[in-house]
Amino acid sequence: MAAKAVGGGAMYALAPGKGIQAHREAGGTLHTYVALQKPLAWFEAIDLADPGAVAGVVAREFGDWAGELTALLTDGETTPVLRPLHTLPADHRWDRVPGVTLLGDAAHLMIPSGEGANLAMFDAAELGSALAAHPGDTETALAAYERDLFPRSAEEAHEADHLHELMFGPDSPHGLLNLIAPRR
Ligand SMILES: Cc1cc2nc3c(=O)[nH]c(=O)nc-3n(C[C@H](O)[C@H](O)[C@H](O)COP(=O)(O)OP(=O)(O)OC[C@H]3O[C@@H](n4cnc5c(N)ncnc54)[C@H](O)[C@@H]3O)c2cc1C
Repeated sequence: MAAKAVGGGAMYALAPGKGIQAHREAGGTLHTYVALQKPLAWFEAIDLADPGAVAGVVAREFGDWAGELTALLTDGETTPVLRPLHTLPADHRWDRVPGVTLLGDAAHLMIPSGEGANLAMFDAAELGSALAAHPGDTETALAAYERDLFPRSAEEAHEADHLHELMFGPDSPHGLLNLIAPRR
Protein backbone atom coordinates (compact mmCIF):
# COMPACT_ATOMS: atom_id res chain seq x y z
CA MET A 1 0.00 0.00 0.00
CA ALA A 2 2.80 2.40 0.94
CA ALA A 3 4.74 1.51 -2.24
CA LYS A 4 1.64 2.20 -4.32
CA ALA A 5 1.21 5.61 -2.64
CA VAL A 6 4.79 6.55 -3.61
CA GLY A 7 4.29 5.39 -7.19
CA GLY A 8 7.11 5.15 -9.70
CA GLY A 9 8.86 8.46 -8.99
CA ALA A 10 8.78 10.89 -6.09
CA MET A 11 5.96 11.56 -3.62
CA TYR A 12 5.48 14.67 -1.44
CA ALA A 13 2.90 14.85 1.34
CA LEU A 14 3.29 18.31 2.85
CA ALA A 15 1.67 20.43 5.56
CA PRO A 16 2.79 23.53 7.49
CA GLY A 17 5.92 22.62 9.44
CA LYS A 18 6.00 18.94 8.48
CA GLY A 19 6.00 16.47 5.65
CA ILE A 20 6.67 12.97 4.40
CA GLN A 21 8.63 12.63 1.18
CA ALA A 22 9.60 9.40 -0.56
CA HIS A 23 11.13 8.27 -3.81
CA ARG A 24 12.20 5.10 -5.58
CA GLU A 25 15.83 4.18 -5.75
CA ALA A 26 17.56 1.58 -7.91
CA GLY A 27 16.20 -1.91 -7.32
CA GLY A 28 12.80 -0.61 -6.24
CA THR A 29 13.95 0.51 -2.76
CA LEU A 30 11.70 3.14 -1.18
CA HIS A 31 13.65 5.99 0.45
CA THR A 32 11.64 8.14 2.85
CA TYR A 33 12.35 11.54 4.39
CA VAL A 34 10.32 12.84 7.31
CA ALA A 35 10.55 16.59 7.81
CA LEU A 36 9.62 18.30 11.08
CA GLN A 37 10.35 21.92 12.05
CA LYS A 38 11.51 21.50 15.65
CA PRO A 39 14.46 22.60 17.77
CA LEU A 40 17.52 20.33 17.56
CA ALA A 41 17.15 19.25 21.21
CA TRP A 42 13.66 17.88 20.44
CA PHE A 43 15.15 15.43 17.89
CA GLU A 44 18.15 14.54 20.03
CA ALA A 45 15.82 13.38 22.81
CA ILE A 46 14.40 10.63 20.55
CA ASP A 47 16.12 7.22 20.45
CA LEU A 48 15.82 6.57 16.71
CA ALA A 49 17.10 3.00 17.16
CA ASP A 50 14.01 2.23 19.28
CA PRO A 51 11.06 1.37 16.97
CA GLY A 52 8.66 2.17 19.85
CA ALA A 53 10.06 5.70 20.15
CA VAL A 54 9.71 6.25 16.40
CA ALA A 55 6.14 4.93 16.47
CA GLY A 56 5.39 7.35 19.34
CA VAL A 57 6.64 10.31 17.29
CA VAL A 58 4.57 9.19 14.30
CA ALA A 59 1.48 8.85 16.48
CA ARG A 60 1.97 12.31 17.97
CA GLU A 61 2.99 14.19 14.85
CA PHE A 62 1.19 12.29 12.07
CA GLY A 63 -1.67 10.60 13.95
CA ASP A 64 -4.35 11.81 11.55
CA TRP A 65 -2.35 11.14 8.35
CA ALA A 66 -3.17 8.29 5.94
CA GLY A 67 -1.94 4.86 7.04
CA GLU A 68 -0.03 4.23 3.79
CA LEU A 69 2.03 7.37 4.50
CA THR A 70 2.78 6.69 8.17
CA ALA A 71 3.68 3.07 7.21
CA LEU A 72 6.63 4.58 5.32
CA LEU A 73 7.97 5.63 8.73
CA THR A 74 6.89 2.74 10.94
CA ASP A 75 7.56 -0.18 8.57
CA GLY A 76 11.01 0.84 7.32
CA GLU A 77 13.73 -1.81 7.17
CA THR A 78 16.55 0.47 8.32
CA THR A 79 17.06 2.65 11.38
CA PRO A 80 16.13 6.30 10.72
CA VAL A 81 19.05 8.73 10.53
CA LEU A 82 18.79 12.23 12.02
CA ARG A 83 19.77 14.88 9.44
CA PRO A 84 19.68 18.28 11.19
CA LEU A 85 19.44 21.12 8.69
CA HIS A 86 21.97 23.85 9.44
CA THR A 87 22.30 26.83 7.12
CA LEU A 88 24.49 29.87 6.56
CA PRO A 89 22.84 33.25 5.82
CA ALA A 90 21.95 33.36 2.11
CA ASP A 91 24.25 36.34 1.47
CA HIS A 92 27.15 34.96 3.51
CA ARG A 93 30.59 36.02 2.27
CA TRP A 94 34.07 36.57 3.63
CA ASP A 95 37.09 38.77 2.96
CA ARG A 96 39.83 37.30 0.80
CA VAL A 97 42.29 35.25 2.87
CA PRO A 98 45.58 34.70 1.03
CA GLY A 99 46.08 31.12 -0.12
CA VAL A 100 42.71 29.86 1.10
CA THR A 101 39.21 29.53 -0.31
CA LEU A 102 36.08 27.45 0.27
CA LEU A 103 33.70 25.50 -1.94
CA GLY A 104 30.56 23.42 -1.58
CA ASP A 105 28.64 23.42 1.68
CA ALA A 106 31.63 24.92 3.51
CA ALA A 107 31.12 28.05 1.39
CA HIS A 108 27.34 28.16 1.18
CA LEU A 109 25.51 25.70 3.44
CA MET A 110 21.82 26.05 2.58
CA ILE A 111 18.52 24.32 3.13
CA PRO A 112 18.27 21.26 0.80
CA SER A 113 16.75 22.28 -2.53
CA GLY A 114 18.18 19.64 -4.82
CA GLU A 115 21.10 21.88 -5.80
CA GLY A 116 23.69 21.55 -3.00
CA ALA A 117 25.71 18.72 -4.56
CA ASN A 118 25.38 20.29 -8.02
CA LEU A 119 26.68 23.60 -6.67
CA ALA A 120 29.60 21.89 -4.92
CA MET A 121 30.66 20.16 -8.15
CA PHE A 122 30.20 23.38 -10.14
CA ASP A 123 32.35 25.27 -7.61
CA ALA A 124 35.09 22.65 -8.02
CA ALA A 125 35.00 22.98 -11.81
CA GLU A 126 35.07 26.78 -11.60
CA LEU A 127 37.94 26.78 -9.11
CA GLY A 128 39.91 24.40 -11.33
CA SER A 129 39.26 26.60 -14.37
CA ALA A 130 40.33 29.75 -12.49
CA LEU A 131 43.59 28.13 -11.34
CA ALA A 132 44.29 26.89 -14.88
CA ALA A 133 43.58 30.36 -16.31
CA HIS A 134 46.09 32.04 -13.95
CA PRO A 135 49.14 29.76 -13.76
CA GLY A 136 51.55 30.86 -11.05
CA ASP A 137 49.12 33.50 -9.72
CA THR A 138 46.95 31.71 -7.19
CA GLU A 139 45.66 34.93 -5.56
CA THR A 140 44.23 36.26 -8.82
CA ALA A 141 42.67 32.85 -9.50
CA LEU A 142 41.04 32.66 -6.05
CA ALA A 143 39.78 36.24 -6.28
CA ALA A 144 38.20 35.52 -9.69
CA TYR A 145 36.63 32.30 -8.37
CA GLU A 146 35.15 34.03 -5.30
CA ARG A 147 33.85 36.98 -7.36
CA ASP A 148 31.42 34.60 -9.14
CA LEU A 149 30.94 32.20 -6.22
CA PHE A 150 29.21 34.69 -3.90
CA PRO A 151 26.37 35.87 -6.21
CA ARG A 152 25.90 32.33 -7.59
CA SER A 153 25.46 30.76 -4.17
CA ALA A 154 23.38 33.66 -2.78
CA GLU A 155 20.90 33.29 -5.63
CA GLU A 156 20.59 29.53 -5.02
CA ALA A 157 20.26 30.04 -1.26
CA HIS A 158 17.42 32.55 -1.70
CA GLU A 159 15.70 30.10 -4.05
CA ALA A 160 16.20 27.30 -1.53
CA ASP A 161 14.64 29.45 1.23
CA HIS A 162 11.71 30.21 -1.06
CA LEU A 163 11.19 26.53 -1.91
CA HIS A 164 11.36 25.65 1.79
CA GLU A 165 8.70 28.27 2.53
CA LEU A 166 6.47 26.83 -0.23
CA MET A 167 6.94 23.29 1.12
CA PHE A 168 6.66 23.90 4.86
CA GLY A 169 5.35 27.46 5.32
CA PRO A 170 1.87 28.37 6.62
CA ASP A 171 0.28 28.04 3.15
CA SER A 172 1.70 24.54 2.53
CA PRO A 173 1.04 22.62 0.31
CA HIS A 174 -0.81 25.17 -1.85
CA GLY A 175 2.24 27.28 -2.72
CA LEU A 176 4.12 24.32 -4.16
CA LEU A 177 1.01 23.00 -5.89
CA ASN A 178 0.52 26.35 -7.59
CA LEU A 179 4.16 26.31 -8.67
CA ILE A 180 4.11 22.87 -10.28
CA ALA A 181 0.47 22.77 -11.42
CA PRO A 182 -0.81 26.37 -11.68
CA ARG A 183 -4.56 26.77 -11.88
CA ARG A 184 -5.74 27.93 -15.30
C1 LIG B 1 18.53 15.74 3.88
C2 LIG B 1 19.37 16.31 2.75
C3 LIG B 1 18.97 16.10 1.44
C4 LIG B 1 19.71 16.64 0.39
N1 LIG B 1 19.31 16.42 -0.90
C5 LIG B 1 20.03 16.91 -1.92
C6 LIG B 1 19.65 16.65 -3.28
O1 LIG B 1 18.65 15.99 -3.56
N2 LIG B 1 20.43 17.16 -4.28
C7 LIG B 1 21.55 17.89 -4.02
O2 LIG B 1 22.24 18.33 -4.96
N3 LIG B 1 21.94 18.15 -2.75
C8 LIG B 1 21.22 17.66 -1.69
N4 LIG B 1 21.62 17.91 -0.41
C9 LIG B 1 22.80 18.75 -0.18
C10 LIG B 1 24.10 17.98 -0.45
O3 LIG B 1 24.13 16.78 0.34
C11 LIG B 1 25.28 18.88 -0.08
O4 LIG B 1 25.11 20.16 -0.62
C12 LIG B 1 26.59 18.28 -0.61
O5 LIG B 1 26.81 17.01 -0.01
C13 LIG B 1 27.77 19.22 -0.30
O6 LIG B 1 28.96 18.59 -0.70
P1 LIG B 1 30.33 19.00 0.00
O7 LIG B 1 31.35 18.13 -0.65
O8 LIG B 1 30.50 20.48 -0.06
O9 LIG B 1 30.17 18.66 1.55
P2 LIG B 1 29.94 17.22 2.24
O10 LIG B 1 29.18 16.30 1.35
O11 LIG B 1 29.39 17.53 3.60
O12 LIG B 1 31.40 16.64 2.35
C14 LIG B 1 32.31 17.12 3.32
C15 LIG B 1 33.14 15.93 3.76
O13 LIG B 1 34.19 16.41 4.61
C16 LIG B 1 34.33 15.51 5.69
N5 LIG B 1 34.98 16.24 6.80
C17 LIG B 1 34.44 17.16 7.63
N6 LIG B 1 35.33 17.60 8.50
C18 LIG B 1 36.48 16.97 8.21
C19 LIG B 1 37.80 17.00 8.77
N7 LIG B 1 38.11 17.81 9.79
N8 LIG B 1 38.73 16.21 8.22
C20 LIG B 1 38.45 15.40 7.16
N9 LIG B 1 37.23 15.32 6.60
C21 LIG B 1 36.27 16.09 7.13
C22 LIG B 1 32.91 15.08 6.00
O14 LIG B 1 32.89 13.86 6.73
C23 LIG B 1 32.35 14.92 4.59
O15 LIG B 1 32.58 13.62 4.07
C24 LIG B 1 20.88 17.39 0.66
C25 LIG B 1 21.29 17.58 1.99
C26 LIG B 1 20.54 17.05 3.03
C27 LIG B 1 21.00 17.26 4.45
